[in-house]
Amino acid sequence: MKKPLIVQKFGGTSVGSVENIQKVAKHIIEAKDDGNQVLVVVSAMAGETNRLVDLAQQIDSVPNARELDVLLSAGEQISMALLAMTLNKLGYAARSLTGGQAKIVTDEKHNNATIEDIDTQGIRTLLDQEQIVIVAGFQGVNRNGDITTLGRGGSDTTAVTLAGYLGARECQIFTDVDGIYTCDPKIVHQAKKLSTIDFLSMEEMAKRGAKVLHLPSVKYAQKHNVPLRVLSTFKNSSKGSFVTGQQAPDGICGIALQDEMQLIEIDSTLIASLLAQCHMLGIAIWNTIESKNTTQFVVKYADYIKLKLTLSEKEHTASLVNLITVVGSMKEVSEDKIRAILSENGVKIIFYTLNIRSFTVAIRPEEVDKVANILHDIYIDSAVVIER
Ligand code: ASP
Ligand code: MG
Repeated sequence: MKKPLIVQKFGGTSVGSVENIQKVAKHIIEAKDDGNQVLVVVSAMAGETNRLVDLAQQIDSVPNARELDVLLSAGEQISMALLAMTLNKLGYAARSLTGGQAKIVTDEKHNNATIEDIDTQGIRTLLDQEQIVIVAGFQGVNRNGDITTLGRGGSDTTAVTLAGYLGARECQIFTDVDGIYTCDPKIVHQAKKLSTIDFLSMEEMAKRGAKVLHLPSVKYAQKHNVPLRVLSTFKNSSKGSFVTGQQAPDGICGIALQDEMQLIEIDSTLIASLLAQCHMLGIAIWNTIESKNTTQFVVKYADYIKLKLTLSEKEHTASLVNLITVVGSMKEVSEDKIRAILSENGVKIIFYTLNIRSFTVAIRPEEVDKVANILHDIYIDSAVVIER
């Protein structure tokens, strides 16, 4: 009988040192010794991708996109080789593969590519030979054979997509927290771990800034019904959080935080040219706020750096903002109540938007901790008990 396949992905902190790589190896060996085939996806060592981005930016604030992908993909190659060496040393056959070697084919969009196809034949052969296969996360090749990367945090998407193509029994995302929390526990200490969360809520959380899972990985898992679990490399006892179910329940499931956003204000007559620039540069506009003569746009800070090259100083003003989003069923969310409570606490709301499954307020970056804790207190601490 064919052995079941488990896909395990390890994030940057998990492979951040030789010592931690030993802990990673233990999880892999446990799954292998349990009688599974094991495919592993790794991120770059903690801080490595940022270091590489920084090097590139010392040369050019907007580096050549193709060459940036060549550079950034090197981070994951370091981790995959170190992990394969560790497993070999422990007596387990392991083989590392780059995205290209794993036959992960993406579209042409450098720095933010989408996986279009994976020819899994080579991987299957290695797995059937009892090898532990280690694939570099976050990268593939386009149809010309050029290296592409999937956008920051993209290793989750490599793992989930491989799990889907290979029909894995479970895709396990190992990280430095032991699951999916109602808010970033570093900012809201009261944040609670969710033992399960449905795909729709998870998607909305990821879309609004929750970093625990890369958004395309959630979308892929939902579409292809990939059993997805987030768990800790360092805390063995926890079963983590399971993402499952197509139905979003009533109530609020969490508060998502999005930092490093730029609010750009321009004269309304310049909208068409700004939209054209965004389209050409592949920049997503998060929000648009129109007032009498001016219009404000929210884009990621990194995108603003690109856009700035095409806008003159005179034509615009810009400031950093953070977005805080309450995610869930909006039945019990009152805009008036949020506005009143935040202004009682001296918080300046820059703007707010209401969507079907979320309510976002934009605030100054220095107020994030305060606002996240206030909203968490109202909508989660004083509401339902989530941990089951
Ligand atoms: N190393 C890449 C990043 O830091 C991809 C990942 O970690 O998922 O964004
Ligand atoms: Mg991540």
